[in-house]
Amino acid sequence: MHVPFFRYPHVFEQYQTEMEAELIRVARSGAYIMQEELRRFEDQLAEYCGVRHAIGVGNATDAIELNLRAADIGPGDEVILPAHTFIASAGAVKSVGADVVFAEIGPDHLIEPDDIEDRITDRTRAVMPTQLNGRTADMDRLKALSERHGLLLLEDSAQGLGSRFNGRMAGTFGAGGVYSFYPAKTLGALGDAGALVTNDAEWAQAVLELRDHGRSPSTGEIRRWGRNSRLDNLHAALLLLKLQHLDKEIATRRELAARYHDNLKHLDALLLPPPPTGEADGHFDVYQNYEVEAVDRDRLRRHLEDNGIGTILQWGGKAVHEFDALGIDQNLPRTEAVMRRSFLLPMNTSLAVEEIDYVSEKIVEFYGA
Ligand SMILES: *Cc1c(COP(=O)(O)O)cnc(C)c1O
Repeated sequence: MHVPFFRYPHVFEQYQTEMEAELIRVARSGAYIMQEELRRFEDQLAEYCGVRHAIGVGNATDAIELNLRAADIGPGDEVILPAHTFIASAGAVKSVGADVVFAEIGPDHLIEPDDIEDRITDRTRAVMPTQLNGRTADMDRLKALSERHGLLLLEDSAQGLGSRFNGRMAGTFGAGGVYSFYPAKTLGALGDAGALVTNDAEWAQAVLELRDHGRSPSTGEIRRWGRNSRLDNLHAALLLLKLQHLDKEIATRRELAARYHDNLKHLDALLLPPPPTGEADGHFDVYQNYEVEAVDRDRLRRHLEDNGIGTILQWGGKAVHEFDALGIDQNLPRTEAVMRRSFLLPMNTSLAVEEIDYVSEKIVEFYGA
């Protein structure tokens, strides 16, 4: 059996008939930039997320940067975030001229609220958790902490679409959240695409201007310095189509996660993500990734590879502060320990239960030997 880590053609093949029809229809209509499909996608996305405003942009990295610009965060300011995140979270902060300060992560690999407080200085402006692997952080604690210190709460919820904490969706807790539609994300486009969400009308207005050269959407008047980060209308049409299938896809991911959990939970050598229980503990996870910690990780990965199973190290295996070229002077022992032990098993809606069982069997075989 061959189980690749991800099947890119599946992003299209899964809904090929519907997508082909939509691609041709929109291409023929000549509606390419900021047209009806984009407005409809934005409206439906906002409704899906239970938030007032959703704004399509070029990608989630841009969305994070636009949130920071809407907050007027820039040189001299600090933003606290986890280091177990994509370089994009930190890169967006640097791109507006602000500084990154990293906090440790907890056992679920998300930012640890208890570790944030000591890192707050008089330059700190915002806390930005990453809603990693399709799980939403304990936003009650983060919200209380941010309010106590007068900080903005932003979210890198690029991996969090559909995920909830206490019934509320990742991305909708703070001043502004983001979603990525990179092909391998839960709602995957055929290229780069992203969105920003907020409940604040002024914030939304600022972002609508920032993404389109500073122009007012109603009058076309230049209202500020902006840039171009528009979501293609063609992509919006495809995403609108795929959004109708998202809940079903999330249900499949949760079934696959439950299967991994049942197959592997008896192994002491593995630390698995929390299983998809009800929402008793407040968490509804969507398993954008299935990240496990493993004893003898590198040998286990080789064993899986030898058996035709693709796995990866998230971010190539390093937390952001560990990339020497970036010159970040921080030690985060807990984060570093997680990075040395963790890796991603295949997790996507192209997978059959038999494939999950095969991967599980090879892991059990490795530790049994
Ligand atoms: C994918 C991702 C991003 C970036 O999203 P793009 O749409 O590729 O710019 C940012 N943060 C996290 C945590 C991500 O997983």
